[in-house]
Amino acid sequence: MKTRILVLGAGFGGLELSTLLSEALGDGIEVTLIDKNDSFMFGFSKLDIMFGHATAASLRMPYKNFAKPGVRLLRQTVKTIDPVARRVTTESGTFEADFLIVALGADYDMAATPGLAEAGHEFYSIAGAERVREVLPSFTKGHALIGVCGAPYKCPPAPSECALMLHDYLSQRGVREACEISFVLPLSSPVPPSPETSRALVAAFAERGIEFHPSRRVTSLDPGRRVAIIDEKDEMPFDLFLGVPKHRVPEPVLASGMAENGWIPVNPRTLETKYPGVYAVGDGANTGTPKAGVFAEGAAKAVAEALVAKIRSAGAATPYSGFGSCYIEFGGGRIGRVDVDFFSGPKPIGTYHAPSIELRSDKEHFGASRRARWFGM
Ligand SMILES: Cc1cc2nc3c(=O)[nH]c(=O)nc-3n(C[C@H](O)[C@H](O)[C@H](O)COP(=O)(O)OP(=O)(O)OC[C@H]3O[C@@H](n4cnc5c(N)ncnc54)[C@H](O)[C@@H]3O)c2cc1C
Repeated sequence: MKTRILVLGAGFGGLELSTLLSEALGDGIEVTLIDKNDSFMFGFSKLDIMFGHATAASLRMPYKNFAKPGVRLLRQTVKTIDPVARRVTTESGTFEADFLIVALGADYDMAATPGLAEAGHEFYSIAGAERVREVLPSFTKGHALIGVCGAPYKCPPAPSECALMLHDYLSQRGVREACEISFVLPLSSPVPPSPETSRALVAAFAERGIEFHPSRRVTSLDPGRRVAIIDEKDEMPFDLFLGVPKHRVPEPVLASGMAENGWIPVNPRTLETKYPGVYAVGDGANTGTPKAGVFAEGAAKAVAEALVAKIRSAGAATPYSGFGSCYIEFGGGRIGRVDVDFFSGPKPIGTYHAPSIELRSDKEHFGASRRARWFGM
């Protein structure tokens, strides 16, 4: 009988894991990949949507194009997960597996920040980014506040990118002088593992007159007075609030009992959970590395190698490296990069690459290579 592998979530982690398993074992295994959506999109595409650089339709990668030997991709919604029995239910049926991999990403908890849904705009979902694109043209004067409502959150540099891109957007429309931009971040610096990257971002904020408030968190919004409450005590008025909502694991993961302190505990090098044959990769897993696609991919690689070694009863798997590179939009068409190695030393080591036009083509290649590898597009 073929080994049954059930992968929940066809995002960065699930797509890479399924691709690697197919490449190694093809029809020799039975991989079932389940996702509730009909297409995939890169996280960073949301910034392009909100600033009108591209439409969501042009950035979606339809799952019907994901065709890999040994893998069937089902469009269903995961309702329950029993990690002990490795049994999952969806609206259409029950699935059992020899190996279960949870790659369902992170959800947004809008209710955790009272007033956010009424008075603010989150830009982390496709629908949210599209709404911001509709609202931005009418913002011509006043105070734009970019606020992060909780950590950890996806892609630590993304709200910094949003601030710098907003500056460009308002400048191009000739209204920057009539607007203020502030940025409230619960982290001590924009990219804590890389002081050099953080210094460059803080300098870029200062050059553009963006007011930066580190180590502060937006805890609620008062829709009536259009005021953001910071750390439950201070107030900051706004005319436009662009928010990163608090993140949490999706509901079925919470209900399964797999999460502790909000996230799924795993062995950071093997991605094994405490349940035999059950792994977690990507944003939902607590590995100590950031919630970013490139890290989800690295974790998927380690799990794929481990499963192939087990199925072949041969070889040893290379542990998850905890290494990843993130591209950072600095505005003006220039992109910087930070490479971070989380596991080699006693603390994470970041290497900064100053923004340039050349790095834009590197980022484009990053996206295009995944698009081609997973979807043949
Ligand atoms: C604005 C922004 C910018 C970003 N920029 C970058 C960047 O430059 N570089 C980078 O590496 N990362 C970036 N990221 C982060 C990146 O998008 C995520 O970290 C990455 O997608 C995580 O991969 P994942 O596999 O864990 O989850 P995801 O890619 O989110 O995939 C999870 C999948 O699970 C599915 N799912 C969830 N619940 C269910 C359910 N109940 N039933 C069925 N399916 C379900 C979802 O539909 C989804 O397809 C950015 C994110 C944002 C929001």
